[in-house]
Amino acid sequence: MKKLFKKSSILLLILMLVFTFVGCQNKEVKGKFNPGTYEGTAEGLGGTITAKVTVTKDEITKIEIDAPKETESIGAGAKEQVIDRVLSSQSLAIDAVSGATVSSNAMIAAITAALEKSGADMNVLKTPADKPKEEAQKDLDVDVVVVGAGGAGMSAAIEVANAGKSVVIIEKMPIVGGNTNRATGGINAAETPYQEAAGIKDTKQTFYDDTMKGGKDLNDPELLRTLVDNAPGAIEWLNNMGAGIERVTLSGGATNPRIHSPKDASPVGPVIVKVLSNKLKEQNVNIMLETKAEKIIEKDGIVTGIQATDKNGNSFTINAKAVILATGGFGANSEMVEQYRPDLKGFSTTNHQGATGDGIVMAQTVGADLTDIGEIQIHPTTDPGTGYLFTEGLRGDGAILVNFEGKRFTDELLTRDKVSAKILEQTNGQAYLIANEEMRIENASLAGYIEKGYATKGETIAELARSLTIDEATLENTMKVYTELAKAGVDKEFGRKHMTKTLEAGPYYAIKVTPGIHHTMGGVKIDTKAHIISTEGTPIKGLYAAGEITGGVHGGNRIGGNAVADIVIFGRISGQTAVEELK
Ligand code: ADP
Repeated sequence: MKKLFKKSSILLLILMLVFTFVGCQNKEVKGKFNPGTYEGTAEGLGGTITAKVTVTKDEITKIEIDAPKETESIGAGAKEQVIDRVLSSQSLAIDAVSGATVSSNAMIAAITAALEKSGADMNVLKTPADKPKEEAQKDLDVDVVVVGAGGAGMSAAIEVANAGKSVVIIEKMPIVGGNTNRATGGINAAETPYQEAAGIKDTKQTFYDDTMKGGKDLNDPELLRTLVDNAPGAIEWLNNMGAGIERVTLSGGATNPRIHSPKDASPVGPVIVKVLSNKLKEQNVNIMLETKAEKIIEKDGIVTGIQATDKNGNSFTINAKAVILATGGFGANSEMVEQYRPDLKGFSTTNHQGATGDGIVMAQTVGADLTDIGEIQIHPTTDPGTGYLFTEGLRGDGAILVNFEGKRFTDELLTRDKVSAKILEQTNGQAYLIANEEMRIENASLAGYIEKGYATKGETIAELARSLTIDEATLENTMKVYTELAKAGVDKEFGRKHMTKTLEAGPYYAIKVTPGIHHTMGGVKIDTKAHIISTEGTPIKGLYAAGEITGGVHGGNRIGGNAVADIVIFGRISGQTAVEELK
C-alpha cells in the first residue's frame, strides 16, 4: 500500500511537471500577437490608405503604409512619424501628427485595422503607455543654423552643406515643408529652354514688368531683378535633383505663358519638398523636427545663435556663426494679420498652422526693419469651409468663374487682388469655378479636387445648374456665349486674353470658391544678398533671411508662381552668402 502510494505520488509529480511545462509553452506561444503580416485599410484625405503590419508573437516589427492619394510631401512626413511613433511605443495610443491630422489619423486607423486581425488585445494596444523619459536636447555648435524647413530653409541648407560647412535645420512642426507643401501652381521664369521648346516668346524684361505692375510698383527693384535673373537657374537646379518641372502654362498677371510646373500638372510644392528633403538626406543634414526657435542670440551687434526648445519643451542653445531665418509668413496668425490689416479680420486662411510670423517678431528684437508689412494677399479661389486652395492654374488652363446667378462677372485672369475683389462683390462673396471633363483629364490638380469631393458634377450644363440651384437657362446662356467668344478668340464681355478651352462639351464640374488669406508679401527687409537690414539701414551681422518671412520681392500683390521662385532663389542666396561670410 505504502509502495503504491509512493508510486502514484511520483506519477502525480511527473504529470504536474509535464502540465506546468506544457502550460508554460502554451503561454509562450500565445504571446501578444499571432505572428504574421496583416493588412488593414482606412479612408484618408484623397482615398484609401493601406497598412501592412508585421508582428512577432510579442512585438510589432515592421509597418509599411501605402497612401498614394495623400498630398505627397505631407503624407510622406506623416507616414514616417506615424510608423516611428507606433514602433517606438509599441502602441496605438499615439497622437496624430499636427499639420497632417487627417492623413495621420487615417494611417493610425489602417494600422489598427491590420492589428485587429493579429489576435491582439486591442484595448491594451490603445491604452497609453508610460512615456520613457527622453533626454533633453544638448546645446549644439554649428557653422550655420537654418530656422524653418520650408522651401527657402531647405534650399539654404543644401547650399551650406554643398560648401562643406556644418548646418542644422530646426523645424517647429513634426513634418517638413510648411506652406511650400501647399504651393499648388508652379514656378515662374522667363527665357527658359522649356518655353523655347514650346515656342513661347517671353523675355526677362516682360517678366520684370508684369511683376512690378502686379505688385503695384511697390516691389524693391533690385530684389525683383535678382528674382527674374535667377529664375531659369532655379528651375535647372531643381530639375537636376529630379523635379521634372517642364510644363509651361499661363497664370494670372502674366503676359506670356511662364509658370513652370510638373509634367502632369500636379501641384509643384510637394514635388519641391520631396526633392529638397531627399537631397538633404543624401547630404546627411540634420533636420530637427518639433524644435522651435524662440530667440535670436546676439552679442555686441553680432548674431551668435538661436535659443530653441526641443519637442519636450526643454530649452537649449545652438551656437552658430550664421543664422538664416526661413520661418515663412504670418498668414495663419489671425492676431498679427489683424494688427497690420484690421480690415481682414475674420478671413479664413490657406496657410498651414505654423505660419505664425515667429521669425519676423524674433528679428525685430535684434533691430530688423520691416517692409510692406500690411501687404497681405487674399487668394480668390479657396474652399469657403476649409480654406483649401484651388490653383490659379485652373483658370489659366481654361476654367471660368460664374456667380450664384449663373453669370460671368470678371476676366478670370486678372491678378489675384482684382479677381478676389470681384468675387467679394458677388452674392455671399462666393462664386463657382466651372471646368469640364476635357480639363479633368489634362489636369491632375483638378482631378484631385474632384476626387476629394470639392466639385459638383453635371452631365450637362442644365443638370449642373439644377444641382447648384442656379437658373438653368441663365447658366446655359452664359456657357453658350463663352464658347462662342472662346472660338472667336475675343472676350468682348470682360477682355480675357487667353480662352484656352471652349468648354463646349461636358460633363461639367463646379467648385464653390471664396477668397482667403494667402500670402503675406511684407516682412523683414533684406538686400540682394539676403542680409537682414536693420532699422539703421545696415546689415545685421550674422543674420540672413529668405522666403515668405521677407518683404520687398512681391510689392503690393504677389503674382502666382513667384513665391516658389522667391523661396528657391533667395533660399540659395542666403545659404551662399552665409557661407561666404563665415568668420
Ligand atoms: P517659405 O515658403 O518661405 O519656405 P514655409 O511656410 O514653406 O516658408 O516654411 C517655413 C517653415 O518654418 C515652416 O515649416 C514652419 O513650421 C517653420 N517655422 C516657423 N516658425 C518657426 C520657429 N519659430 N521655429 C522653427 N521653425 C519654424
